[in-house]
Amino acid sequence: MNATPLLIRNAAGMLTGLPGAAARTVGSNEARDLLIEAGVITAMGRDLAAPPGARVLDATDCVVYPGWVNTHHHLFQSILKGVPAGMNQTLTPWLTTVPYTYRRHFDGETIRLAATIGMVELLRSGCSTIADQHYIYYPGMPFDSSQILFEVADSLGLRYMLLRGGSTRTREIEVGIPNYLKPESVDDIAADMERLARLYNDPGPRPRHRVAIAPPTPLVSVHKEELKPLAALARKLGIRMHSHLSETVTYIEQAAAMHGMLPVQFVAEHDWVGPDVFYAHLAHLAPEEMQILAQTQTGMAHCPQSNARVASGIAPAPALARMGVPVSIGVDGAAANEANDMLSETHFCWLVHRAHAGAQSRPRPEGNGEAGADIVTIEDVVHWATAGGAKVLGFEGVGTLEVGAAADIAVYSLDEPRFFGLHDPLIAPVASGGRPKLKWMLIDGGIRVEDDAIPGLDMAELAAKARAMVRKLGG
Ligand SMILES: [Zn+2]
Repeated sequence: MNATPLLIRNAAGMLTGLPGAAARTVGSNEARDLLIEAGVITAMGRDLAAPPGARVLDATDCVVYPGWVNTHHHLFQSILKGVPAGMNQTLTPWLTTVPYTYRRHFDGETIRLAATIGMVELLRSGCSTIADQHYIYYPGMPFDSSQILFEVADSLGLRYMLLRGGSTRTREIEVGIPNYLKPESVDDIAADMERLARLYNDPGPRPRHRVAIAPPTPLVSVHKEELKPLAALARKLGIRMHSHLSETVTYIEQAAAMHGMLPVQFVAEHDWVGPDVFYAHLAHLAPEEMQILAQTQTGMAHCPQSNARVASGIAPAPALARMGVPVSIGVDGAAANEANDMLSETHFCWLVHRAHAGAQSRPRPEGNGEAGADIVTIEDVVHWATAGGAKVLGFEGVGTLEVGAAADIAVYSLDEPRFFGLHDPLIAPVASGGRPKLKWMLIDGGIRVEDDAIPGLDMAELAAKARAMVRKLGG
């Protein structure tokens, strides 16, 4: 938190992260200025006076967004981008070829470097909050990867939610890998969750640290009789539950073969639905599964770039949002999209659903003709990726630009030719693609990026370490 008041002055405009008409500050109240005191937005408006001692940040010709909330990630994969053997595979063989093959080589130093790369990249895209499903845990592990991840987040000032992975079963797709990671016992996972909740689960609004219980997949990472006790433990500890679900058609086939039902029906039968549960992907859903998600207010972490990269599909996020399902956006691990970047993720999200709507349109008289114009708007995508993410994670007071909210604020400068000629500058960071310069990035009112630079970070040194680690891992 920054004790010095900050006044962001004279922005070209703001998107607030709020839904509907409140997405933009419009009309006579059109805000150009934001006052930040003690880490919180205390005023919005025009021609605000700077209190004594305030620092004024001149945002002329800049646009202002809330910090992005990234709800699904695997930061350790930030050192596994573009592994050649995995470039032209679908999800299941890609899992064997890339993350499950490489994760056995990770020690504490590798996790720290990968997390630093991923968090730096996310922060420079304007992201303030990361939920990271980490799944390098095994019996006798000689380092505390959870602690390392919180340390890296703290060093950059990010809000960090550890989605603690952990498996009690070995997946069939791993057994051919030499020295594959051995599973943990459910008691060891439970004991570690109790420890992590005690150490890192901040109560109250605007949290800096949270934890959730997050086996990689409820179908094959744990035994089905362990699901209800793990859900009960999460609810006793007051933490959220997370997993991957229904990422590909193979998952539907597995659920049918193992349990004779659809994946969402399976998790609903095992207490893994509700407003404290959220799933990544949900790319293949039957109508009755969508109804269950809506009725139970189970959340979605939508990962459109990763779903495209490993040819999984296009998740029905717009339809789920219209049904009232809490929708958020995650970048997923960078081994499955080659980026840790909320700007490219939201840009692609906006485009892919419009393309999908058009691809489904059919000529009249049998079909609707051209359709899908309003399938998703820029404001919808910004809402999902900010306030929507905060709701899914349970981070109250985060993800919006409004009085009383945490001062997690991205100020983008539109001084690149890509952004010249825009009639509506507010849409630029999502609509135009690319990365506008981040003039300032605030988290809890603290300046974490200034003119694209992270104070104290030696970018050349980070690049050299990344190149050396790629060589060591076999790239
Ligand atoms: Zn994932």
